[in-house]
Amino acid sequence: MVRREPDLGENLTAKFAWLAEQKFAWGWDCGIGWEKILTDFLTTVEQECPGGKGFEIRQVKEKLGTVRFYFALKNVDEAAARRIYDAETLLDARSLHTCEICGERGRLRSAEGYRFVACDEHAAFEGRIVTTFGPETRYRFLGAT
Ligand SMILES: [Zn+2]
Repeated sequence: MVRREPDLGENLTAKFAWLAEQKFAWGWDCGIGWEKILTDFLTTVEQECPGGKGFEIRQVKEKLGTVRFYFALKNVDEAAARRIYDAETLLDARSLHTCEICGERGRLRSAEGYRFVACDEHAAFEGRIVTTFGPETRYRFLGAT
């Protein structure tokens, strides 16, 4: 539903100038509704890796409805790395409840096998309001700890 949001990369790079030096495939492949939660994650990254030093983005995308932020850490100490991984876990969990289009409270939804997170206003898919998944779809988080 939402792909390749050019403004998202521009907005984030305006906040974190070091993002301009990051080269990763396919760019910011998710919706601008996630700008706030991505900003919060990148704020933690900047605290732990000033200027983005040691933090290398591999890929950022939506998959099965929620965000996937793949990155590598180079010469980052263990405590800092743990805080970044914790922030990434939080980012992932927040994406499950944040409309990818507008950033308001959203829920995971399904339309013809396509999963996405949207608020009630943005839940229409090909003209239809789609049903919301139940808690069984949160398997990814139940197994995380
Ligand atoms: Zn929305």
